[in-house]
Amino acid sequence: MRRSIYNSDHETFRSSVQKFLDRHVRSRTEQFIEDRTFPRDLWTEAGKQGFLGLDVPEEYGGSSAGDYRYNAVLGEELAKVTVALSSCLGIHYDVVAPYLVELTTEEQRRRWLPKFCSGELVTAIGMTEPSSGSDLAAMRTTAVRDGDTWVLNGSKTFITNGYSADLVVVAARTSLEKKAKGITLFGVETGMDGFTRGRKLDKVGQIESDTAELFFDNVRVPHANVIGEIDRGFIHMMERLPQERLGAAVSNIAHAAQILEETIAYAKERKAFGQPVGSFQHNKFLLAELVTQIEVSQAYVDQAVMAHVEGQLTAVDAAKAKWWSAQVQNDVLDACVQLHGGYGYMNEYRVARAWRDARVTKIWAGSNEIMKELIGRELGL
Ligand SMILES: Cc1cc2nc3c(=O)[nH]c(=O)nc-3n(C[C@H](O)[C@H](O)[C@H](O)COP(=O)(O)OP(=O)(O)OC[C@H]3O[C@@H](n4cnc5c(N)ncnc54)[C@H](O)[C@@H]3O)c2cc1C
Repeated sequence: MRRSIYNSDHETFRSSVQKFLDRHVRSRTEQFIEDRTFPRDLWTEAGKQGFLGLDVPEEYGGSSAGDYRYNAVLGEELAKVTVALSSCLGIHYDVVAPYLVELTTEEQRRRWLPKFCSGELVTAIGMTEPSSGSDLAAMRTTAVRDGDTWVLNGSKTFITNGYSADLVVVAARTSLEKKAKGITLFGVETGMDGFTRGRKLDKVGQIESDTAELFFDNVRVPHANVIGEIDRGFIHMMERLPQERLGAAVSNIAHAAQILEETIAYAKERKAFGQPVGSFQHNKFLLAELVTQIEVSQAYVDQAVMAHVEGQLTAVDAAKAKWWSAQVQNDVLDACVQLHGGYGYMNEYRVARAWRDARVTKIWAGSNEIMKELIGRELGL
């Protein structure tokens, strides 16, 4: 079905993203997996193209796009090549950017944003802890004020870009007696005494994205690095999670749609019993169902993108887009593996990697169960 949310400017932007991917990414994907990271030159090249500062005002080096559809186009194109790329770059330009643009002081914006846009300063966000993920308000990392500094103690886990980030937005408890109303955000920077990282975590998929544990042992964070209002960190996060979940939904569907397209081509080529495997009625019907699932889901996600452009996206609608797209992505990719037969289980086939890479989308940024919890609450249940 024809999509109608993008105009010619968005499509021109899409072409520039595709050129960037052709020149700097496609031929190097195996190397990224081997190195278990995306190299710095990729970030700085993305910065040169203006991809990292879409949400950042021009005076700080960004492109001030002011239209979420550009973020969506970028997320789609990255996900089509490797979904790990859309998660790592996405955490930076789509998830962290709103914190650094909307909640920071003028001094912080001047200090952080130009390098954020150029790719010289890679960012991450640390909410999850070993003992609390879904129940964010139960976090145990603390920050206690001591004059002009805050003393941070605790740890975070599963942090995307955690191993390589220069600046991490860290949520910590600042009022011990209050639960959600006692959390503050801090900009923790590489080189601060007491800030260390564990190894890159050994994941089932998205091997090339670096995911790490972070440790804070009496880290003295200057008061000048408080992001947003003291004790309002939980609200700051809740207000920005809908965009993070929408970005995830955009990437989920683009990823599955791309691999499905590749699978259809495979099903036309691969022969069994003297005919293309896609021509057996079972497989033909299966592919018809998968294409329909993608297109119908795409229509909802597109609607959510437009709602966000208009400032109307609700947390519940973002939750619907996120869990549904993650489920569809996983269902579609599982069927795509099946249609590839044994080759679908071989790492050298894109479909196998895509299937493994996708598994996490039902878990992170709020699991499917938590998304349904949010939707159920709105139903008054
Ligand atoms: C690869 C990867 C990258 C990540 N990147 C980041 C990052 O950059 N920053 C960050 O802060 N975090 C990140 N996360 C963490 C992620 O957001 C959490 O893993 C997720 O929120 C789930 O939390 P948990 O792992 O503690 O699971 P738990 O909260 O322990 O949940 C365990 C199971 O119980 C279910 N459950 C929990 N509560 C309920 C409930 N009320 N009702 C029904 N079921 C429930 C969950 O859905 C899940 O199935 C990442 C995780 C992964 C795996």
